[in-house]
Amino acid sequence: MQASIVLLPGDGIGPEVTGQAERVLKLVAEKFGHTFRFSSHPIGGIAIDNGGDPLPQSTIDACRASDAILLGAVGGPKWDDPKAKTRPEAGLLKIRKELGLFANLRPIITFPELVDASPLRREIVEGTDILFFRELTGGLYFGPSGTEQVSPGIERSYSTAVYSTDEIERIVRMAAVAARSRRKKLTMVDKANVLEVSRLWRRVSAALIEKEFSDLTYEVVLVDSMAMHLLSRPTTFDVVVTSNMFGDILTDEASMLPGSLGMLPSASLGSSGPGLYEPIHGSAPDIAGKGIANPLATILAAAMLLRHSLGLEKEAEVIEAAVRKVLAAGHRTADLVRKGQPSVGTISITDYVLAAI
Ligand code: NAD
Repeated sequence: MQASIVLLPGDGIGPEVTGQAERVLKLVAEKFGHTFRFSSHPIGGIAIDNGGDPLPQSTIDACRASDAILLGAVGGPKWDDPKAKTRPEAGLLKIRKELGLFANLRPIITFPELVDASPLRREIVEGTDILFFRELTGGLYFGPSGTEQVSPGIERSYSTAVYSTDEIERIVRMAAVAARSRRKKLTMVDKANVLEVSRLWRRVSAALIEKEFSDLTYEVVLVDSMAMHLLSRPTTFDVVVTSNMFGDILTDEASMLPGSLGMLPSASLGSSGPGLYEPIHGSAPDIAGKGIANPLATILAAAMLLRHSLGLEKEAEVIEAAVRKVLAAGHRTADLVRKGQPSVGTISITDYVLAAI
């Protein structure tokens, strides 16, 4: 296979971790006889420094022309001035919108070797394997909003959650298709006892499942209950689908189940065009440049890229198996060990992954 992959290293540890994922992708290409062409483009703080724009047009054009995109992370204290004209995160929101990436997939897997890194007890988290589908381009984060002066000294603000039938259908369908190839259970999370927009989610989702996915076990859970169930019985969930804001909060809560941010990848997909793959962690300015960042989340994001954008399932599994093997052999970066225990750096842990491949 020939594929063109755009790298958006970004800020902080972004370049360190994407650099390691690129090494892994190159080895996989060599082993399996593929040709991957890589090109690197600025996004976030570095792009602001270069030309004042967190997402230059040249980066958008390169992304559009690619088969898949691998992003590191954006942001850092240097660009945190609240009075600044623009922020690194604006680049991230814009690329999602530009490419129509309406679905954010976040697998939450507790690796057996890392169960003791979880803040929850082993018997609760062991065996957790959830795939979240968060709607990414609609709802409360994109609906009409504003602030008005209602009387002297009193302002009133509003943000509005808006969803249409087609926006709900396409994300629920994508989640249901994924559930079919997993354990065949789909959980839809909403707040239909209070919110009108959630009642539309419930109607549209139920109708779609009845019509096209009657082979799945389907359940609906209120978002407040879900916040509890994720901590008390995470192993009972398979695929979970929900709206933008609920997904934002629940996936961050769920990301604590495996114990380290440094292990979790994510994918953002549209109905066509390239997908965007990234670790869920940020640019970790506190450890940037020290050579100790954990690259495994980005390496696992590269595996998702092969699976979802290039259809290379076997190659994806080879990377995932290599990561497990490295963990099983006891190799750990600093974020995965207790204080004082031995650890290896960003490049060394990748060397072990390459050896396992
Ligand atoms: P963070 O995820 O960058 O870091 C949180 C903590 O986890 C830090 O102690 C960090 O050292 C550690 N950590 C994160 N990734 C790690 C890794 N791969 N290996 C080892 N340790 C790791 O979150 P933050 O500190 O809240 O944010 C820092 C910056 O990143 C901010 O500017 C924020 O806006 C930005 N951010 C960007 C994204 C993104 O690009 N998608 C996501 C979240 C935060």
